[in-house]
Amino acid sequence: MIYLDNAATTKTAPEVVDAMLPYFSEYYGNPSTIYSLGATAKKAVTKSRETIASAIGARPEEIYFTAGGSESDNWALKATAEAYAEKGKHIITSKIEHHAILHTCEYLEKRGFEITYLDVDSDGLIDLEQLKQAIRPDTILISIMFANNEIGTIEPIAEIGAIAKERGVLFHTDAVQAFGQIPIHVDELNIDMLSASGHKLNGPKGIGFLYIRKGVKSRSFIHGGAQERGRRAGTENVPGIVGLSAATERALRIMPEKIKKETELRDYLIGKLETEIPYGWLNGHRTKRLPGNVNFSFRYIEGESMLILLDGKGVCASSGSACTSGSLDPSHVLLAIGLKHEDAHGSLRLTLSEETSKADIDFVVEELKKIVQRLREMSPLYEDFIKSQK
Ligand SMILES: *Cc1c(COP(=O)(O)O)cnc(C)c1O
Repeated sequence: MIYLDNAATTKTAPEVVDAMLPYFSEYYGNPSTIYSLGATAKKAVTKSRETIASAIGARPEEIYFTAGGSESDNWALKATAEAYAEKGKHIITSKIEHHAILHTCEYLEKRGFEITYLDVDSDGLIDLEQLKQAIRPDTILISIMFANNEIGTIEPIAEIGAIAKERGVLFHTDAVQAFGQIPIHVDELNIDMLSASGHKLNGPKGIGFLYIRKGVKSRSFIHGGAQERGRRAGTENVPGIVGLSAATERALRIMPEKIKKETELRDYLIGKLETEIPYGWLNGHRTKRLPGNVNFSFRYIEGESMLILLDGKGVCASSGSACTSGSLDPSHVLLAIGLKHEDAHGSLRLTLSEETSKADIDFVVEELKKIVQRLREMSPLYEDFIKSQK
């Protein structure tokens, strides 16, 4: 099997599993208790919070554990909306956010908030001038993703942070695709809130965190016990938290090497697809791009058919985001960068890991060449196109 869907989820690293196991079977105490079994668990949570905080240049008390990226995104938006409603009811985001942001924005719109959805250019980058012009006296929050999960484009986060700071507006970033993949420092980038998720960096599923800068007003997201400084109740997911911390340590350790290797392989794959398969193109920015992301459109092809045939060859890939696969709607991200409906349907996302080899890439391109050729031979649109060329 060749797994090229690391943007959907990643393999939990063996060292992460090893770090977690004792917190299921030996140190299973509730961190809120006072006997030493509970204290051991509590200590592990404290240490994990320190590790994760230092990974983004934050303080431990600014890290709130959640059940993953979607919860962190929901919390950041809903709690900020509620806490700052008196200042204003205007929020700025982009058209290419993850559904955890976009659907939460729709929810807030129904509750009287006004949302500006910024356009992106053909590479998927927001326009900083448009952002500046969108800010109003009643704007309370800017939420722009760090890097896009479908096309890999990395947004100008430092510039957005500087604008937000200058204009006195809070800045949240969905960094689920970026955390553990590329360096992030919340002070240097002027980030006030940041979402991350364990399973995108070889950690476990169902654990993530929300960074909330000290001084930012927020609300309790889950009401109940006093966990997470009273803001997110519920007995801590201790094995998950330990796993997230181990995954973070591992990610930081391998980051320089991983970035170098994946960037080289990514560009090698892009080059091969561009030269060996006609009527295709790269989606997303060529260099302001996540090291492991390749997103390609092939004209006259259905993405779903490509995926099924690739699966038959043992290759796991995606036709967009995992959330939209299975639905017939084309990706909102590909439409936002200007693709036509039929071209957005013929897209393929291949996301690499540090384990991907050049041989894997060569195999996938060879198979893809045959698959694309086969599917095009069955396509009436392609037939018409070829006739028109004659
Ligand atoms: C995966 C992903 C999410 C959702 O994270 P979960 O932990 O799966 O809830 C949110 N935003 C982006 C950009 C993602 O890639």
